[in-house]
Amino acid sequence: MTATDDLNAFKAAVRILNWLDAMGLRTLPIDLNLVRQVLPDTPFGRGSVIKEPADLTWNASEGALVRNPENEIEWGIFVNPKARPERRRFTIAHELGHFILHRTSQPSFLCDKESVYSGIDNLKQIEREADDFASNLLMPGDMLRDRIAGKRIDFHLIGDLAKEFGVSLESMSIRIVKYTEQRAMLVYWDHGFLKYQWPSGEARKTRVRLRKTSDPQEPLYGTLAADDSVEQEWDGVDMTANIWCTSEANDIKIRELKHSYPGGNRVLSLLMLESAPPRQYVRSGWEDEETHDTFDRFIDSGQPPVR
Ligand SMILES: [Zn+2]
Repeated sequence: MTATDDLNAFKAAVRILNWLDAMGLRTLPIDLNLVRQVLPDTPFGRGSVIKEPADLTWNASEGALVRNPENEIEWGIFVNPKARPERRRFTIAHELGHFILHRTSQPSFLCDKESVYSGIDNLKQIEREADDFASNLLMPGDMLRDRIAGKRIDFHLIGDLAKEFGVSLESMSIRIVKYTEQRAMLVYWDHGFLKYQWPSGEARKTRVRLRKTSDPQEPLYGTLAADDSVEQEWDGVDMTANIWCTSEANDIKIRELKHSYPGGNRVLSLLMLESAPPRQYVRSGWEDEETHDTFDRFIDSGQPPVR
């Protein structure tokens, strides 16, 4: 068996983290320069050279991975110089994912946040895989689990963890909702309309459903998400869960948290629900490994997540 047999984004990231462990260098934030330099000494990159990331100036994309046409062993990573540092890190990790998982199939990759929305299935698939790789590499599940065990989840905790792991608040929020054992839902609003909703495993099992308004969905009356006078609520406010969710009995409470990005057009709502017994076993979703999670979990809204 070679190192790349049966390889997927999750396994590839875990293997790299194990290599860092073996060197005593798995510390946070994960050192992407080190990963890039180590790869050519591993079965994932033997015989290749990955150049130091450079500014992407010849295209408006977020990132690119390009093979040097004059020297086929050499690959270059290019990153939008205007992006925030944590976003640049995610993009570099994403391009390293293409290098490991996809470089034998094409000589160049141009990557945007919106690529996962592309109508071309193959393109969407490889973009999701590169995103999965980046999430698993930058936010190792075991390190995250340790840090959230028994903790009250709010945007203060998520913000602290985002800093420690060197990722965006949104990336960390998505990851925490994935790892929490509580019933939780992350909702992203873009210019007043729902862009995606991301339920935790427990929320899935108990079939939490957002109350529908119009199509596209708008924030619900009585919620902080609908209240323009509240920009940030990082601790959360308790309310009756069925303001948000049709699935919840009258006595179930929900804690709503809100984070608005500068300019106010993009809003993250984090909903932490009181526990409730599972309604029925839901087969899809959580028992598989961490690959394809972006796809599986966004079926509800029909949209994959942004980073
Ligand atoms: Zn890509």
